[in-house]
Amino acid sequence: MMDRKQIDFDESDRNLFQVDDARLRADALKHSILPRLHAVMNECVSAIRRIYDIEVLDDSIVSYYPHFRPKRERELTLLYDSSYVALGGKRLPRWAGVKRKDGKPVKFLPFRLGLILTEDGLSLLMEHYWLKGLSNDSYEKLFQFHLDFEGLTHSLCYLSKMRPRLYFDATIAPIATFREMYLYMIRKRLFDNTFVSQGAEAYPISRAAIDTLVWRYALFFPIYDSYIRIAKAEPVRFLDLIAKANRWLMEDAEGGNSDSTEGRSSSREDVILRAKEAAETRVKVMPAIRWQVFQRDQWKCVSCGRGSQHDAILHVDHIIPRSKGGSDALDNYQTLCDVCNIGKGNRDNTDLRVK
Ligand SMILES: [Zn+2]
Repeated sequence: MMDRKQIDFDESDRNLFQVDDARLRADALKHSILPRLHAVMNECVSAIRRIYDIEVLDDSIVSYYPHFRPKRERELTLLYDSSYVALGGKRLPRWAGVKRKDGKPVKFLPFRLGLILTEDGLSLLMEHYWLKGLSNDSYEKLFQFHLDFEGLTHSLCYLSKMRPRLYFDATIAPIATFREMYLYMIRKRLFDNTFVSQGAEAYPISRAAIDTLVWRYALFFPIYDSYIRIAKAEPVRFLDLIAKANRWLMEDAEGGNSDSTEGRSSSREDVILRAKEAAETRVKVMPAIRWQVFQRDQWKCVSCGRGSQHDAILHVDHIIPRSKGGSDALDNYQTLCDVCNIGKGNRDNTDLRVK
């Protein structure tokens, strides 16, 4: 059984990206958004374990953005236009299968397979965005993988609704296959090869939509795994993983792996650019009541005191329920963690605040 928390992202999460108060946005990302994204990533990791029997954290770590450093005031100059969690290669003395342009060993592996939340919604992406310095040989090795397994990688992209952001040039026939595109890119030494999912899951992002994203993520994993294996100078186990994915798809066929409708396609740059524009043109919007309640309660459960550092997922709770005449005023709300919220159950009128 997957550890499946009751997680969704609603209009008040979207509201966060429109709020003008940088400190509130920083706190909300840290204490409310990232813990939930982290929980979704944990589900992705469990799904990978279940489908492929791979302990993905042997080679990868979970990274996230924004990272919060002690220099608090500097943080506040960030736009906070997006937030993500991703699997990325661990820091090692060296990744023997790839080299940098300057010949120095590669210690950080730049590939990341993650989930990104913006004002538009939640999407998947795989990128090697922040390290451009691999040698041409190394890039060619990675591209060769796509040439060797073109049909199968294409199928995984289709299932996961991921699209490589291949170099496009008007002189190439628009009906070129991936294979032709990769060959062209090798010839021209254009090695940008990020993948972005087609269309974000738009708000409100339901639990069911997140389940769909989790299996789309898990189905795309063999491509990420192949990059990792190439970077470790080990043979790819792509066909083996595809066989396992197939078995899982057959067994799970009636398990509700329903397709959602195709959204518009977009590159990572488009996703980020739109988020930045939205952040820059931010108009003054009142923080949703949820953010006001969390802020007043200092981003901690009023009952047990747990917060993001304890992996708590925070909820806003009506102290006196609406059905009993409770108001929608700020003082009729309290912050509870997922555990205390369930514990409260239907006992009405339970003000759990420490008086
Ligand atoms: Zn609690």
